[in-house]
Amino acid sequence: MQVISSVKRLQAQLQKLKTKKTIAFVPTMGGLHDGHLSLVRLAKKKADVVVVSIFVNPTQFDQAKDFQTYPITIQNDLKLLKKENVDFVFTPKAKEMYPEGFQTKVILSELTQGLCGFTRPGHFDGVATVVLKLFNIVQPHMAVFGKKDYQQLLLIKRMVKDLNLPVQILGAPLKREKDGLAMSSRNLRLSKPQRQQALGLSRSLKKAKEASQKPSATLVKIQRAVLKELQSFPKVKIDYLEFRHKDTLQKLKAYQKGKTLVALATFVGPVRLIDNIIV
Ligand code: AMP
Repeated sequence: MQVISSVKRLQAQLQKLKTKKTIAFVPTMGGLHDGHLSLVRLAKKKADVVVVSIFVNPTQFDQAKDFQTYPITIQNDLKLLKKENVDFVFTPKAKEMYPEGFQTKVILSELTQGLCGFTRPGHFDGVATVVLKLFNIVQPHMAVFGKKDYQQLLLIKRMVKDLNLPVQILGAPLKREKDGLAMSSRNLRLSKPQRQQALGLSRSLKKAKEASQKPSATLVKIQRAVLKELQSFPKVKIDYLEFRHKDTLQKLKAYQKGKTLVALATFVGPVRLIDNIIV
């Protein structure tokens, strides 16, 4: 496994391989867990060469504190990726990605407006810009993104279509801990009692699923089921709870079986956690 932090060096290595081998790319911000590794495994299955990037992208953080406290576990990350037989790990410094004078931004006009885009202004401009840069640097045949960040996955698919990027986007299932908590690098920041409270997200989404399976299911009833369950988790503060069409992210006025994305964002203490389910 080669660990490379220079754009030029990585490109030189990949250029040699590109004509003969397929390349799959998995962008991450490190703090790796089994959710990330499931993306790596899918990439390994689909392509000859796997490139993983670890870059805590400053431009996608709307809160300085969130950026400063983002978990960094690089040594452990590299160990995990080596075990997965990853070929290249790209670990650029911020200066390498954003040299002096940098001023270009990729902005998607609609998909970025609601959900995390509303409560984290500018977040998705930062995501789209860095992902396009990474695609241009790595030039992969395919790239894998997790459904944990559902809005991000749709946004990347849209950007690829809109800008005719020659990369196939694969969506990987959301991976959970045994007790249901969605795996997230931010879980490392939870205290023990907060970790217990964080179960409120997956438990309440499970209630959404149950409510949706009743013949008389409506959005109001599903919402009530989620909120009722969350009452048992008083430290979980809702940032948003929304019902959107799973393909377009349009707000739903009525429940649509199998097409309804229930998206939940919360704060547990200072830690922002998201989760979602399609019902
Ligand atoms: P991050 O390091 O949080 O930027 O995530 C890097 C990639 O891993 C993104 O495509 C995420 O959607 C994906 N990811 C993070 N957590 C999970 C999870 N629990 N299940 C599946 N994919 C995940």
